[in-house]
Amino acid sequence: MKKIAVIGAGTMGNGIAHVFAQNNFQVHLIDISQSAIDKGITTITKNLDRLLAKEKITQQIKDNTLLHITAFTAVGEGVKEVDLVVEAATENIDLKLKIFQQLDEAAPEKAILATNTSSISITKIASVTKRPEKVIGMHFMNPVPIMKLVEIIRGYSTSDAVTQTIMQLSEQLHKVPVEVNDYPGFIANRILMPMLNEAIYSLYEGVAGVYEIDTVMKLGMAHPMGPLQLADFIGLDVCLSILNVLHDGFGNPKYAPCPLLVNMVTAGKLGVKSGEGFYDYSESKKAEKLAKQFQ
Ligand code: NAD
Repeated sequence: MKKIAVIGAGTMGNGIAHVFAQNNFQVHLIDISQSAIDKGITTITKNLDRLLAKEKITQQIKDNTLLHITAFTAVGEGVKEVDLVVEAATENIDLKLKIFQQLDEAAPEKAILATNTSSISITKIASVTKRPEKVIGMHFMNPVPIMKLVEIIRGYSTSDAVTQTIMQLSEQLHKVPVEVNDYPGFIANRILMPMLNEAIYSLYEGVAGVYEIDTVMKLGMAHPMGPLQLADFIGLDVCLSILNVLHDGFGNPKYAPCPLLVNMVTAGKLGVKSGEGFYDYSESKKAEKLAKQFQ
């Protein structure tokens, strides 16, 4: 494998492009929005600068990594002649099905089509292509350049050979791949989301406050971040949508999203990205925090 196309230059796409490029793959970074591409390249440059400042990479590696990335705004153009496509576009089933139909037509017949989806069925995505044995889940964790895990999800028809290739490729990226089967939430979100939901239920039922719940899990269970803070970082809308996938997929009430989560999402309190979730991330709060540091 030499040439990789990454679809989507957002949070995950730019991280995935960065990791492939730093490991000497030629990367075609594709997004329908030019501003998303510009933002993605700026983020990659900033992340490389941070690694350079910490002496984790050399100036030559930084320059080389950036030289390995070419940007495209047309999917058809960008996936010509690639060996692998990693799709990291917005989490929306209709959009992903449309993109995979497009990829199936435009990418070389031998190319493997991977998706970074957090929750959409790989088998469903594969079903709209003529190569379901070459469709696989490659679920990187955020932030991609730092997190070691890649959850490799086999769809119902994914072949052994394709799974092996993607497992080995993940190791070439210095990641640790773990193979799982295609059932709702895979492994990462099937275990994480009920825990986050339970933390939200504990708050909703008045068992404890935000600080107390997060402190118990941080200091008591050695979690680097409390569950409510983590939910804010992931995005409360994303948490709600994954819980709905688990609830619908298994038909088990234990996955029912907490009414408080539903209310917060309806009210537009989505966590870090909207400036407020279980914590306040508004500009004034940030300024207050900064001022306190200098007092
Ligand atoms: P994001 O919103 O930051 O980025 C999505 C990008 O896709 C945007 O730049 C958008 O312009 C682009 N896009 C939309 N339609 C497109 C199209 N037709 N062709 C090309 N580009 C298109 O989203 P994200 O957080 O990076 O998530 C991307 C995927 O990764 C989702 O499937 C998500 O579930 C998954 N994921 C996210 C996280 C996370 O923590 N954010 C973690 C693991 C997996």
